[in-house]
Amino acid sequence: MSFQGHPVETRPAGAREHLFNGRTVEGYRHSLTAGIDRVAARIARTERPFSGTTPDRLAPEISAVDLEQPLHDPAAALAELEDVYLRDAVYFHHPRYLAHLNCPVVIPALLGEAVLSAVNSSLDTWDQSAGGTLIERRLIDWTAERIGLGPAADGVFTSGGSQSNLHALLLAREEARARAAAGSDTSPTRAELLPKLRILASAAGHFSVQKSAKLLGLGPDAVIPVATDQDRRMRPAVLARELDRCRREGLTVMAVVATAGTTDFGSIDPLPQIADLCATAGAWLHVDAAYGCGLLASRTRRHLLDGIERADSVTVDYHKSFFQPVSSSALLVRDAAVLRHATYHADYLNPARMAEQKIPNQVDKSLQTTRRFDALKLWLTLRIMGADAIGELFDEVVDRAAQAWELLTEDPRFEVVTRSQLSTVVFRYLPEAGPARELADDANLFAREALAASGAAVVAGTKVDDRHYLKFTLLNPETTLADIAHVLDLLAGHAEDYLSRKAAPELCRQAG
Ligand SMILES: *Cc1c(COP(=O)(O)O)cnc(C)c1O
Repeated sequence: MSFQGHPVETRPAGAREHLFNGRTVEGYRHSLTAGIDRVAARIARTERPFSGTTPDRLAPEISAVDLEQPLHDPAAALAELEDVYLRDAVYFHHPRYLAHLNCPVVIPALLGEAVLSAVNSSLDTWDQSAGGTLIERRLIDWTAERIGLGPAADGVFTSGGSQSNLHALLLAREEARARAAAGSDTSPTRAELLPKLRILASAAGHFSVQKSAKLLGLGPDAVIPVATDQDRRMRPAVLARELDRCRREGLTVMAVVATAGTTDFGSIDPLPQIADLCATAGAWLHVDAAYGCGLLASRTRRHLLDGIERADSVTVDYHKSFFQPVSSSALLVRDAAVLRHATYHADYLNPARMAEQKIPNQVDKSLQTTRRFDALKLWLTLRIMGADAIGELFDEVVDRAAQAWELLTEDPRFEVVTRSQLSTVVFRYLPEAGPARELADDANLFAREALAASGAAVVAGTKVDDRHYLKFTLLNPETTLADIAHVLDLLAGHAEDYLSRKAAPELCRQAG
């Protein structure tokens, strides 16, 4: 058989059978269904959040896979995946995963994930995404409206909170440069201005602010930590003092970064007072709501974010408190015009002519070029469950954290730090007063590692006033107070084990 003189390929097998297209939809159905079945079976029988494996144990299994010898069989590859990944993965859906800001994910978002990777739209330009771009824009508008940013607001989806913060600070830096240029006849050169730029951020803020400052070419002292009160909220009086000091020293405050939900303490900085100070000083206000953004969907706690509507830019991580799979985040801005600071035109992609024709190319606003259609996950979540349902899930974990805090305050084995406005609990095992108390840091470190090694539960660790603490980050409404009480018993058991083993040699020595 031939077509216009060319022989028609009849050989069905080979590399091309793996391409996803109209001829291979059966293979797609079969392969994906097998993968879904495999994950479903694993999830259904996961009894612990973690196997407790170590890099030393797992690395040889992964090294032993011969990447030059394909299996030619999805079922065989999935069976192998069980050994190299699924068996030992860390499972965030498990009620005793209590460590970092990782949420269990909602099924509508998983449906979105499957659709978006199969269609594989790229959200840089309209001509690679069509409706995808418009859906993303609707969700940006929806989020900006929930925040209350006003009619000129805009934004873009990003890969995560760190990227959103970097993006916001880039815009703030460029706005500061523009102001400096407009404000004097002899506008400072870039080399003159950069070392003078300062970012004021809560001492409990996220480390991506420091990383961003470095990437943006600022000096090593650019980020000034603003002291917090006993609830780990930025102290407005200290911020006022720092703003004043910068002004007197001829420094330019490029941005104030307030945090709506600090990673460790879930503390929300006093946004209205901070917004007042920024307005007076003419400083850009960025609100990092990577964690606290879930309150945007809450019917009972939205007021905790009051003042966020006065921000110049806001970071939200749907992959933290909207129960979305990684990655799903966005940067929102009050004034769409500032996004121009990241606009470049390329003849091969988004020529300026397209902007004049009002063709919606999201790459004009983004730091990325090729970009996932992550917005589809949130879209299907809102269309299937609705925002109230997301807010209910988040409210539940905030309630649970309050209960966990109460439980801890009544437990003499533990000392608990400030009560979170969101869903973290920072605490530590406190040995009895006396020589054992000296070992508190080591006992807590040991307890956390021993617990993770057992796989029975995973908790996080952090430092407070240079002491080792333990942390629960509750994002799973399925976590019960009984789960939490059980994990506390396990932690106390490991800490006591450690102390008794430490004490034993000394007792022996004393006896001898
Ligand atoms: C998690 C977090 C970030 C970083 O977000 P990623 O999505 O992990 O990049 C930034 N700020 C705060 C307050 C966070 O909790």
